[in-house]
Amino acid sequence: MPYQAGRNLPGERASKLGHLEVLRSPLVQQIVENFEQPEAVDMLDVAWESFPPCTEPLDVVFAVDGSWQPVTDERPPYKKIAFIKTALMMVDQAALNRIDKDEPHPLALRDLMAKAAVYHATAFPLRHVYLRGLSVYDATRQIIFESLKDDSLQGEVMETLKWLAYEKWSKSPRSSLPDFQCPHSEIDGEAHNATLSFDQEEGVCQTCGKKVFITDMLGFHLEMSENAASESVATAYMNIHETLLLFTGIRHFWESNKRETLKRCLFLKDGPLQIRAQYSKLVNPIRNFLLHAYLQGYPISIVGQEKTGIFVDHLNLLLGKNAPSNHFFIPDHVYICEQIQSRPPSGAPYGKDTNYGAKVFIVMNERCRLVLSIPICIPMDKFIQSPDSSKIINFDRILATLPAMLSSRHENALIPIELANSIASLSTYPSVKVLELFAFKSRE
Ligand SMILES: [Zn+2]
Repeated sequence: MPYQAGRNLPGERASKLGHLEVLRSPLVQQIVENFEQPEAVDMLDVAWESFPPCTEPLDVVFAVDGSWQPVTDERPPYKKIAFIKTALMMVDQAALNRIDKDEPHPLALRDLMAKAAVYHATAFPLRHVYLRGLSVYDATRQIIFESLKDDSLQGEVMETLKWLAYEKWSKSPRSSLPDFQCPHSEIDGEAHNATLSFDQEEGVCQTCGKKVFITDMLGFHLEMSENAASESVATAYMNIHETLLLFTGIRHFWESNKRETLKRCLFLKDGPLQIRAQYSKLVNPIRNFLLHAYLQGYPISIVGQEKTGIFVDHLNLLLGKNAPSNHFFIPDHVYICEQIQSRPPSGAPYGKDTNYGAKVFIVMNERCRLVLSIPICIPMDKFIQSPDSSKIINFDRILATLPAMLSSRHENALIPIELANSIASLSTYPSVKVLELFAFKSRE
């Protein structure tokens, strides 16, 4: 990466000429000329399956989405803050049917969103910003904890985290959290583990005696130093908050004994049903609950939609012109490794620790192809070795619900996710300029 501009001198510009020199090399020319276009990727042996017979659609749809925006002060010491927003909205089939798919009326959309949406916003210091005398490290830990207790959502999201982490839905909940690395061991001592007892939100580490939060379990501190936090802390928080917001809806129906209603709901999330790296501590609690609900006779319909990334690119490549409408394909572990991730399939089964949904490629019609992830009712490693659509929770009802949600405005888009996106999008609220002013107004 070129050097940044200093106070007196302009920054370095990447030289365009450098690329030309490379192309002049006889060896490079020879290699490039010999690159061949693959015949066709649809030569791959892809086991498309046709949709199961049509069944009753799900009639209440919840969608969650989030956005984030880093704002950097351009003057030393280059302070940096991240703003994050998430939103959950509800729309029923009747309302969906009333929306004009080609030309949705802005006022109709506004009314719909005003009545049926909740949102959450927060801000993290990423670099050289201090809060109540705390370092970035401790301030960010504290803000993450307080943000999950957001009063505007009546602390419901924190309650959902406890409900999942302590398995409070179970007849025999956990007596403590799974051990996690104490956040104080990174900064001033030997690495050691910490835990909290049933239902605690905060407590004291048994080894070092310092305060730990339930949110430390997720390991945000592993991506932070004393004075700076990685941008990935902000994106991880956003993904976890979206997930918890969705499960707050599920918990509401579960605990208020409206479980029959829960069976008629579809929960949509923008992005895959995946929680990466250390944050994946939430994945097992989620899988445990979904399996428990399924075995109790309450299959819960959740769908994550990927709009970009290697799976979406692969689906586009795969289809070319010949898209078999109303068909789906579930890639198995070997296929994902060899054809999509370009790695040998000898490693751990794909998504074993990080995913709570299986990948499904769906072709609705020529214009609409979706990469979805949907929870399954058997262990992920078993499923991904030999995928079986009958093990996907509520697959037939989810497929039956998709047609009414297809957007005519954007390709491969689902209307409830579009709506949630328009609420969660930061760009529709304060502009970046306003955020900058707001964030650094006291610097003069
Ligand atoms: Zn400790």
